[in-house]
Amino acid sequence: MPNLHSFQTDDPRLVSVHEKVLAGLRLDSEDALSLYGTRDILALGWLANSVREQKHGNETYFNVNRHINPTNVCVAACRLCAFGRRKDAPGAYAMALDEAFQTAASGYSEAVTEFHIVGGLHPDLPFQYFLDLIAGLKQRFPHVHLKAFTMVEIAYLAKRAKLSTRETLLQLKAAGVDSLPGGGAEIFTDRVRHVICDHKIDGDQWLETARLAHQLGLKSNATMLYGHIENDHDRVDHLLKLRALQDETGGFQTFIPLAFHPDNTPLAHLPKTTGMLDIKQIAVSRLVLDNFPHIKAYWQMMTPKIAQISLRFGADDIDGTVIEEKIYHDAGATTPQGMRRQELIRLIREAGREPVERDTLYRPVTRTQTSVTLAV
Ligand code: SF4
Repeated sequence: MPNLHSFQTDDPRLVSVHEKVLAGLRLDSEDALSLYGTRDILALGWLANSVREQKHGNETYFNVNRHINPTNVCVAACRLCAFGRRKDAPGAYAMALDEAFQTAASGYSEAVTEFHIVGGLHPDLPFQYFLDLIAGLKQRFPHVHLKAFTMVEIAYLAKRAKLSTRETLLQLKAAGVDSLPGGGAEIFTDRVRHVICDHKIDGDQWLETARLAHQLGLKSNATMLYGHIENDHDRVDHLLKLRALQDETGGFQTFIPLAFHPDNTPLAHLPKTTGMLDIKQIAVSRLVLDNFPHIKAYWQMMTPKIAQISLRFGADDIDGTVIEEKIYHDAGATTPQGMRRQELIRLIREAGREPVERDTLYRPVTRTQTSVTLAV
């Protein structure tokens, strides 16, 4: 549906951006900084929405997935994190393989089309554990897409197994990994990374791991953690690096801006993001990442209400009916751990959008009372 309202702004910086967007021209770093700097959220939203509607019309995607976090033991101790624990800390856990399979089965119904599998960097679990985990899940749930291991986990597994990143990815793919999630990207700039996550791979290594995965035919997502100590320049740098890699590989499916949740982290003194920043981040992402098919408003982090509004500010995906999300709830997210399918559909419809249930690769899922089929 075309954007029928005329464009209006009281911010002169947005006039030239508007002209570029209308002409389908790529925005540069100065444009992106203007977008971050504006307080005219409605004009920014108009621009992002026009691109969103050109790409997807009214369609808004969601999926039915289950999160599996095999371990929260992590050697990295990122300051941004409330999930990772030292091995001997209270609440630390590592699932035995059978336990992981039971966890998968306990939330499983025919409706689940994806397992989203991420966890900490465990110092003792061998690479074979992860190969067995994936192969075992694939054997038990052959129709479920396995979206597993962030670039950070891949790099750590490679180091522990003394394999190249490429060989590590190849073995995981052979075991049954279908695609990779987008986590661990945080903010690529070294200055910021040294404060929020100084023990994990740097931005260039994250991008190189994604490049290798894409070259091997594994799609991935990409994220950006915002709302902590980064500034607009750091955010723009992050977006432009992702855009450049996407030009090269075309392997990214979805960009997911993640609002920082400070509770229970060493950065708990920082304020939470505001609704204005959350919505602005969605809109700027849609405008700058012109080669990313999808922008996701992750309701678990943004709250369902802000995510719903984001559907008119550039987002075309609202994640899914997540079952048992741990990572952001350890960081103080007060959203429910899962949302019923009907509730998600109601949110989307009330935003004036058309819900489309998808699988991980954005193929529409058609449901009847008794079966699920994928339109390929
Ligand atoms: S963010 Fe990831 S790598 Fe960092 S401490 Fe948490 S679980 Fe570990």
